[in-house]
Amino acid sequence: MKLSPKEVVCDCGHSQMLDRSKLMCTKCGKYVFYNPRDKRKHKINKAYTVILIAAAMGFVAYIFIEMIVDPLLG
Ligand SMILES: [Zn+2]
Repeated sequence: MKLSPKEVVCDCGHSQMLDRSKLMCTKCGKYVFYNPRDKRKHKINKAYTVILIAAAMGFVAYIFIEMIVDPLLG
């Protein structure tokens, strides 16, 4: 979706013109967001992804212990 160009300042202090909802900062590589609300949403999404990965790894570890380590010890 095309938006009217707006100047947005990144966390690193670099300002750039945005004509879409998000764009990678050319200076630090972080995303800058057209709408500040999207930034929060992005953070929540990132946190959610981290939690999902952690849960998946925990599950794999659990399966590993149950299927491999437990029979070896028992
Ligand atoms: Zn930046």
